Amino acid sequence: MSSKLKILVPLKRVIDFATKPRINKAGTGVETTGVKFSMNPFCDIALEESLRIREANKDIVEKIHAVSIGPTKAQDILRTALAKGADTSTLVDVGNEEVEPLIVAKLLQKVVEKEQSNLIILGKQAIDDDANQTGQILAGLLNWPQATNASKVEIDGTKVTVTREVDGGSDTLSAELPMIITADLRLNEPRYATLPNVMKAKKKPLEKLKSSDLGVELVSRLETLKVEEPPARAAGVKVGSVDELVSKLKEVKAI
Ligand code: AMP
Repeated sequence: MSSKLKILVPLKRVIDFATKPRINKAGTGVETTGVKFSMNPFCDIALEESLRIREANKDIVEKIHAVSIGPTKAQDILRTALAKGADTSTLVDVGNEEVEPLIVAKLLQKVVEKEQSNLIILGKQAIDDDANQTGQILAGLLNWPQATNASKVEIDGTKVTVTREVDGGSDTLSAELPMIITADLRLNEPRYATLPNVMKAKKKPLEKLKSSDLGVELVSRLETLKVEEPPARAAGVKVGSVDELVSKLKEVKAI
C-alpha cells in the first residue's frame, strides 16, 4: 500500500450544540423546525485532526475528503469543511430520512471504496442520537483495525499510533494503515474558517449522490416508540439556619 494518506472524514449535520432541544408535539423526536443546525462537534474535531496530520507531516497527505449523509442542506457543513481545508467532498442526499448507523456505515463503506481512502477519522458520537456506533460498524464492515475515543494521533509512515481516553487513564494502540479512528473531545481544538477561505471553498468540489447511486437501500431496523422530556425538578426550599437545614434533611429522611 502506498504510504500517502487518503483521509476520509464523515461529518454529520446535527442540531447546534448550543440549542436547547425540545421534543416535538408527536413525541417522536426532537423539534427541528426553526432550529439552528451545524456540524456535529466531534466531527469538527475529526476534521481538525486530518488538517493537523497534513500540516505536521509534509507531503504525506494526498487528499482529505469530507462526506455527509443527510438532507440537501447538509451541503452547508461540507462547504464549512472545504473552507477549513478539506480538498473535496460528497453529499449523499437522503432527504429528510433518518438514517441509522448501520446504513450510514454501509454508505460510508461505498464512499471509502470510491475514494480509495486508507484512513478514516470520524467523531466518537453524534450529539443528536448519541449512538456511538458508526465508526465501530464501519470497521467491522471493512475489517480494518480501529482506535476509538482518540486523544492523540501520531503517524509514522504507514504506522498509526493512537492514545485513547479510557476510564481512569489512557490506552495506547498502534496499527498499520488502513485504519479507523474516532475522535474524542480532547484530541484538539478546531479552527474557524476564515472569510477568504469561505469564498474559495465555493469553488471546491462537492459531489452529490443518492443512496441508490451507491447501491444501498435506506431501510430502518429500529423504530422510535417514544421520546420524553426528563421529569421536571421539584421546586427547592430556602432554609434560614443550619438547624433548620438539619431538621429539613431529617424530615425528608436524607440523614
Ligand atoms: P454516531 O455513531 O451516530 O454517534 O456517529 C459517530 C460518527 O459517525 C459521527 O461523528 C460522524 O463522524 C459519523 N456519522 C454518523 N452519522 C453520519 C452521517 N449521517 N453523515 C456523515 N457522518 C456520519
